[in-house]
Amino acid sequence: MKEERVKQLTNQIVELFRRSGYDVDAKEISKRLMLLIYEFKVPESEAIKTVKNWLIKELEIPKERLAVESPLVKIADITKPGQWISLKAKVVQLWDSSSPNVSQVGLIGDETGIIKFVIWAKSGKGEVEEGKSYLFRNVVTDSFQGRMQINVNRNSEIIEIDEDIQLPPREIEVVGALVAIQQNSGLIQRCKLCRRVMTKGICPIHGKVEGYDDLRIKGVLDDGENFYEIILNEENIKALTGIDLEKAKQIVAERLDRNAVLSELKSKLLGRYLKVRGTKGGRYLIVSDVEFLKGIDKAEVEKLIEEVAA
Ligand SMILES: [Zn+2]
Repeated sequence: MKEERVKQLTNQIVELFRRSGYDVDAKEISKRLMLLIYEFKVPESEAIKTVKNWLIKELEIPKERLAVESPLVKIADITKPGQWISLKAKVVQLWDSSSPNVSQVGLIGDETGIIKFVIWAKSGKGEVEEGKSYLFRNVVTDSFQGRMQINVNRNSEIIEIDEDIQLPPREIEVVGALVAIQQNSGLIQRCKLCRRVMTKGICPIHGKVEGYDDLRIKGVLDDGENFYEIILNEENIKALTGIDLEKAKQIVAERLDRNAVLSELKSKLLGRYLKVRGTKGGRYLIVSDVEFLKGIDKAEVEKLIEEVAA
């Protein structure tokens, strides 16, 4: 356990110095870390700092030669140019660059914001792809025409990560056909403790607990280009169908079937064109406003298209 951890930390330090062109003695580093952390009970971060400083002194390394481990920051924290930082971000967009000095340019984002990035051709760093997430290690912040950006240079590293970095929620408007309504829609039960949707009286976190009724639709909107997973709440559903929670309970009481609400909503909404406004952060578009696009539904449009084609 101890040995394992010390080995890990040793490798990090060896790697850090190697990147700056110095070969250091791993054995000696391990010995010192072991002593500091487990004998003298120095906190890990302090121990690492101590060993690094000792190496810098020992090897007479000018401070600026050492590629320091840059702190991991969020995009919202990037406010000053000339800082060495690391960040995890998703490539949002790649732009065309006309400059031969630039390998790639575009936008990256995390849950706190979006920022421009430039990978300089000289850096010799691998290509990034739109929609993928990366650790951008040891990049430099810069300010260009009053906006912050990050530059990837020779001392930087770009490592693809197996993590889907979320982007900041953004307000969007989508017009499309509601092509699917998921089974766990309609009159549902939520856990009183955490508001999660319960299945057969069971909360996925709290087990068998008391629940309360709610109305929601999880559906798929198709705008002809993309599919959007949308969530409609009671208010949205009422605005479209006139059915609110009370009405839904009434339907259940009349037909003695909880699923009757879902059937009713499907018959009123599936295939209809909706104009939806909401925020999209992660997977779902959380709807704030919704209305029917008057006068058309998917079946009619398809019929029209067929007629035109014929
Ligand atoms: Zn719960």
